[in-house]
Amino acid sequence: MYDEVAAQNARDLIAEHGEVVEVNLDTSGEIEAIFADGHRQVLEPMFKFGYEGTGPMCFAAWLRAAGFEATEEDVAEMRAPLTLRPPGRAAEPPPTKATPEPKAAMRAPCPHCAKLLRIPLAFASKDVRCRACGKVFRAPTAQN
Ligand SMILES: [Zn+2]
Repeated sequence: MYDEVAAQNARDLIAEHGEVVEVNLDTSGEIEAIFADGHRQVLEPMFKFGYEGTGPMCFAAWLRAAGFEATEEDVAEMRAPLTLRPPGRAAEPPPTKATPEPKAAMRAPCPHCAKLLRIPLAFASKDVRCRACGKVFRAPTAQN
């Protein structure tokens, strides 16, 4: 029942302040959650980590309600200082700008009908069939 109270506490805070972006475990045993709107909330003393009992159970329930993947055992093994982030956000790589894709194909005109064709590099120097005229020709070697 305490874990249900804990989960409700998380849901209430998220409803007010948005998603939990970070949870910091302090060496003093304090647990502070940071929300999407920048709000910082020190959790009730009922939330504990680092040993077994109802405290970790509550904290694990709180974390799960907040979108974390945490079991009671995980919480029991946590040692401060520690920063937790929801798995979705942690795994999300920072946005990269215009990463050039590896060239998987080249463009070459069909020698029979002059149609510009996209030829996978795997077919370089090999016989390929033109999609436009259906004739077979030798694809150029992959140089660029
Ligand atoms: Zn052709």
